[in-house]
Amino acid sequence: MAYIDEFKDKGNRKKLVKLLEERGIKDKNVLAAIEKVPRHWFLDTAFYNQAYSDQAFKIGAGQTISHPSTVGFQSQLLMIEKGEKVLEIGTGSGYQTAILCELGAKVFSIERQKALFDRTKVALPAMGYNSPRLFYGDGYLGLPGFAPFDKIIVTAGAPFIPPALIEQLKPGGIMVIPVGEGPKQAMISVVKAPDGTTETFQYGDFSFVPLLEQKSK
Ligand code: SAH
Repeated sequence: MAYIDEFKDKGNRKKLVKLLEERGIKDKNVLAAIEKVPRHWFLDTAFYNQAYSDQAFKIGAGQTISHPSTVGFQSQLLMIEKGEKVLEIGTGSGYQTAILCELGAKVFSIERQKALFDRTKVALPAMGYNSPRLFYGDGYLGLPGFAPFDKIIVTAGAPFIPPALIEQLKPGGIMVIPVGEGPKQAMISVVKAPDGTTETFQYGDFSFVPLLEQKSK
């Protein structure tokens, strides 16, 4: 597959960034990353001409790529600084992974569906994203061998905050995770203080595919 980014695509991304600004995404680094990453590369060609609308699309295996406004919102809450270690749960298409790379993060990402893992493991380097380390496994467990992480982002709706992820968050770190069973989740930001205690902040409603446990594979 040839990854082509045309003038028209770049123009559409500029318009998308304007829309996201209107929808409350203010972080300049996040907006610059969204302007840079060709989202159409992560979609089925059937959706190419809608790639820069604020919509979610099917990516196969019953999963979806999140709305750009959701990607923007989660990325903004993470407040990523260059060089930080970021754990992503739910690699999916790899779009959010690419955004994290553009923000300068050292990315570790876990996907539990083999078909998506296999596809994205080939696609991301072909797009020029060689640095993220991709793992096939269960996000509930995190990556104890690579912990602790400065930031953690979960891109599927979790019934509860997995304890292993809290454990693997560095003191001073932030985790962003949609929590709730059913069609809607609240966006939760967990901030770990230097003494290891955590405080949670809750933001509006979002709608994610569920974070599934490995046993139901
Ligand atoms: N960040 C992705 C969003 C994909 S949707 C993107 O930008 O495209 C959420 C993803 O989480 C799906 O690919 C789903 O298979 C994956 N997922 C669900 N439960 C998981 C788990 N327990 N561990 C790891 N990945 C999981």
